[in-house]
Amino acid sequence: MLDEHDHRALGQRLDLFHLQEEAPGMVFWHPRGLMLYRMLEEHVRQRMRREGYEEVRTPQIYAQPLWERSGHWENFRENMFLVEDGSRHLAVKPVSCPGHIELVQRMNPSYRDLPLRLGEFGLVHRSEPGGALHGLFRLRQFTQDDGHIFCAEPQVVDEVVGFARSLREFYADFGFDDVQVAFSGRPAARAGGDDVWDKAEAWLLDAARQAGLECRMQPGQGAFYGPKLEFVLKDRLGREWQCGTIQLDLVLPERFDLRYVDASGARVRPVMLHRALLGSLERFIGVLLEHHGGALPAWLAPLQVVVAPVGEVAQDSARRFAERLRRAGCRVQFDGRGESLSRKVLDARQAAVPFVVVVGEREVQAQQVRLRLRDGAQRDAGWDDALAELVSACRPAADA
Ligand code: ZN
Repeated sequence: MLDEHDHRALGQRLDLFHLQEEAPGMVFWHPRGLMLYRMLEEHVRQRMRREGYEEVRTPQIYAQPLWERSGHWENFRENMFLVEDGSRHLAVKPVSCPGHIELVQRMNPSYRDLPLRLGEFGLVHRSEPGGALHGLFRLRQFTQDDGHIFCAEPQVVDEVVGFARSLREFYADFGFDDVQVAFSGRPAARAGGDDVWDKAEAWLLDAARQAGLECRMQPGQGAFYGPKLEFVLKDRLGREWQCGTIQLDLVLPERFDLRYVDASGARVRPVMLHRALLGSLERFIGVLLEHHGGALPAWLAPLQVVVAPVGEVAQDSARRFAERLRRAGCRVQFDGRGESLSRKVLDARQAAVPFVVVVGEREVQAQQVRLRLRDGAQRDAGWDDALAELVSACRPAADA
């Protein structure tokens, strides 16, 4: 038996997703789960658009030479799913970075095109051993809210500041108020000389300071290809989850001989930044579910309102009220079953629905509804007031 606060148990109780033997480490999303997934995706997408990213989609499978060039063939092959195509070896992508570099090569950018910001909800596969798999936390197939910035050296600090700005507000929309920032500096085994690392680390620290972030220093914890800032969320059980990150990459632009044309016509190496806000969407959903014990903020709840009539007289009015909510953009279920009110309220609570609207004979006569909140509070409100209040509470956080 799973603990009831385990996201796998919550996923089952809320009818969001399941995993099964036939597809180890890969998720079957149920309609309500995919709704939640899309809400997350759309929230990130809107932020990306505001920050000037262009969304792209790159191939899922690449031939061996590309992975040799990126270094994955040498360093990461055990974690990649290999595919044979006649006599050629290919691999399913474990990251989206090389695809984005190929795109930039093709764009042949000049200094006027920089900074180039590309975003992708990148579906990736990693061949984790079966024993390491753990619900949504450790999967073989997941989606990253991935993005890469290609810019000139003098633009780096502004780009990092832009990414880090209002990050706390972004995570607060999901109910995370405790966000720690960690700075990970040069590891013992690393690519690139000390002069390059000095410069790269100074850029990141300067940017973090300008964005008003206080960093916990983690010397030696950087990637071999560059230093990084990591955004760590603390959940209500006190556990820490590293979700967002922005990393400087001193290696890939070199390996792919990436260039842009500067103002004097010279072909110059751009700086590459890797960034993500959620990391893996699937893992973030797992963290979100456990943090809230399934009772997600109203804007994220796959089902936001249940409208429950009491008695035959109220059926039509209640149905009309549900329809008005639906047309106004709320995710509503009309519960016209012949069950008792307490049964309907209990079922709604079980599904962690934020609002139950009760309509009985008394309410119909008074042109009112009774609003019941998840915490048990309840009160009467006129039709229009209740409608306005629910619509406002259910609106996506990004639109608020
Ligand atoms: Zn990347």
